[in-house]
Amino acid sequence: MKKVGWLVGLFLFLWAFPGMGHAAAGGTHIYLDGKELNLSKNGQVQEVKGSIMIPIRVVMEELGFQVSWEKTGTIHIKDSNTTIQLNVNSKIAKVNGKQVSILAAPYLKGDTSMVPLRFISEQMGIQVSWVQKTQSVYLVTPDGNKPGGNDGNGLSSITGISFSDNRLLISVHGKVTPNVFKMTGPNRIVVDIPNTNFGSTFPSGMLDSHQSGQISVTGYPDLSKVRYSLYNDAPSTVRIVLDLNYAKNYGVTNAGDGLLIIDLNKEDTSTPTKPPGSSGKKLVVLDAGHGGSDPGAISVTSRKEKDFNLAVVLKVEQLLKNNSGIDLVLTRSSDTYPSLKDRVKIAENLKADIFISVHANSGSAVASGVETYYSRDSSIPLAKIMHKYLVKSSGLTDRKVRYSSLHVTRETTMPAVLLECGYLSNKNDAALLYTNDFQNRVAEGIVMGIKEYLGVK
Ligand SMILES: [Zn+2]
Repeated sequence: MKKVGWLVGLFLFLWAFPGMGHAAAGGTHIYLDGKELNLSKNGQVQEVKGSIMIPIRVVMEELGFQVSWEKTGTIHIKDSNTTIQLNVNSKIAKVNGKQVSILAAPYLKGDTSMVPLRFISEQMGIQVSWVQKTQSVYLVTPDGNKPGGNDGNGLSSITGISFSDNRLLISVHGKVTPNVFKMTGPNRIVVDIPNTNFGSTFPSGMLDSHQSGQISVTGYPDLSKVRYSLYNDAPSTVRIVLDLNYAKNYGVTNAGDGLLIIDLNKEDTSTPTKPPGSSGKKLVVLDAGHGGSDPGAISVTSRKEKDFNLAVVLKVEQLLKNNSGIDLVLTRSSDTYPSLKDRVKIAENLKADIFISVHANSGSAVASGVETYYSRDSSIPLAKIMHKYLVKSSGLTDRKVRYSSLHVTRETTMPAVLLECGYLSNKNDAALLYTNDFQNRVAEGIVMGIKEYLGVK
């Protein structure tokens, strides 16, 4: 995680509008539940260091929140559940009384206050996505995404696809009735999901301009890749294809809880597969931080944090592959960006026993060492055990177990920790972190910590 992310709690901001040009006015579009906002009516949008700033009037008139000002420069934005307090020229905000830091401070432009769009939208429960090509921000309100909601298209949506532990996990919004079948020459499993499309929160980096994409899979004997596309538009159908290396059975779980699972560990198609973590196994959700359009911190040698995080997580997966007491599910197994909410949703839907997020830190050039973060007291025992092994396996300075309000460790309900495995801003740490040997050792340390905490051999 980048240094600035520390107080933030929602490191989604760090992913805010990657690669966006400086001149936001005119060329940028904002769609609310599919309808383009008329921004010129309310003043122009501006882009400040990657954050889209909008006039406060847009918040009031287009998003419909209650807004009030104080002469001191404090702005209050309210709906029935959430109160946001922002201060002009301050990167400290409050959400329901809790302090968080934001990347871009509100500022005055003429007589209007400019406020950060992504921060406000996310705090108010509005889904935000950004399409680079068309310079468009898509906002979807909770009502707007309901089948039959404001968009009126009656479709359910696919919000994420990932493959781990020989299972395909498909996050869905709304009810789906998939049709799963085998095809030969070459062998593959086809999952057709009628009356769906790719939701506005589906990672935009995972879709090309033809509404399709693929995940290449390494390290599994059964499968070479997963392809997906908007296969048909009358009725709108998403098709996901698992390209097999040989004919293979599978199980399907569709419990209606937002997660559809195609399980290649299951040899029997006649009965529904049990979700991971059942039959007495402990379930660990392991999260490689950042990914896809979000590189995370950049090392002094210009390497990306997301690559370190993924490498370690894949090594842990290999180490736990044949463990009879632990089921492991990865939030991502390739270079993709599931949203922070999706990562939490995976752990919550599966009722995971523990959640561990893997990151590398960034700060001053002299900062070095490892930290373990938690956000809820119930996570402290896990944090202590994981940290003990992180210190031991990394051989780096012990920078202690620490509290921080981070989205994935705060919003999950099971014990959850975030590991910072060294400083990419430090020459020595950074050199070490990209060696196979260091990554193997840290992966082994993570496995030992998981086993000790869960009491599994
Ligand atoms: Zn990170």
